[in-house]
Amino acid sequence: MDQTPVGRFAPTPSGRMHLGNVFAALVAWLSVKSQNGQLVLRMEDIDTQRTSAEYAEILRDDLRWLGLIWDEETPAQSTRSAVYDRYFSILEEKGLLFPCYCTRSQLHSVNAPHLSDGTYVYPGTCRNLTDTQKAAFQRAPAWRVQVPDREYRVNDLCQGIYRENLLTDCGDFVVRRADGVYVYQLAVTVDDGEAGVTEVVRGQDLLSSAPRQMYLQELFGFPHPQYGHVPMLLAPDGRRLSKRDRDLDLGYLRQRLSPEQLIGTLAYCAGIIDREEAISARELATQFSWDKLKGDAIIMTDTLFADK
Ligand code: GLU
Repeated sequence: MDQTPVGRFAPTPSGRMHLGNVFAALVAWLSVKSQNGQLVLRMEDIDTQRTSAEYAEILRDDLRWLGLIWDEETPAQSTRSAVYDRYFSILEEKGLLFPCYCTRSQLHSVNAPHLSDGTYVYPGTCRNLTDTQKAAFQRAPAWRVQVPDREYRVNDLCQGIYRENLLTDCGDFVVRRADGVYVYQLAVTVDDGEAGVTEVVRGQDLLSSAPRQMYLQELFGFPHPQYGHVPMLLAPDGRRLSKRDRDLDLGYLRQRLSPEQLIGTLAYCAGIIDREEAISARELATQFSWDKLKGDAIIMTDTLFADK
């Protein structure tokens, strides 16, 4: 029996949505809606220092303005530490966790950056510490999960095949920080798994997280979702857009454009429609297909830029 597709949008309410977030939300919504599926919204506010309820409310308002209406909002990550504790115990029972006392600067000094999210290959420094060695540190450790020497293969809707050997390309990774906060990789795997998410659509910068999440899915007994990592957006001159392009945050874009103009321009630049014209998300869903989206970076037209 075919399952109803369940997609999700998992923004971090730490600021106003940027053009790239809008594009990822749009494609996540289009993909499930073009298959009569459901979209789950979840606030990724696990880092309570950087996030706020006010930004979460603005995000919801922005999504409504765009016409990207979700079917359900699942509880925010900040309310779920007891749930994450249970999954952390599963890893503990499997004997896969170990405490790591390495400082950030120690980790940086022995390795070169490797993945797009800036994480370092962990050399296994604390994997086999004795109890005496552990006690000597006299501080709370972070907790890492041991990874297998195994290649994970992501068959991505946009980026094609992405391969990563968890041991040699990533290493044992942190699931709980020394201050007790669970990390994104654990929280996202639990939340997507419990919500029955079948399709994870998000920005390309998170492609290298997929193998870690696939590994945790196996340990927790969740099926792997389909992944679609949408390409990054470039300015008309080929420069990478960043949060520093303030005129591209949704607060400013909303003052200058209608939601249909914004969606039309994104859809045109991404190759989903053939002409740059205003279109609603709902109308666009009838024309969406993953075949139209390529993995290469998308060059924007200058329509969205304030000084034009
Ligand atoms: N919370 C992340 C962000 O806003 C997205 C995480 C995900 O989609 O897995 O960038």
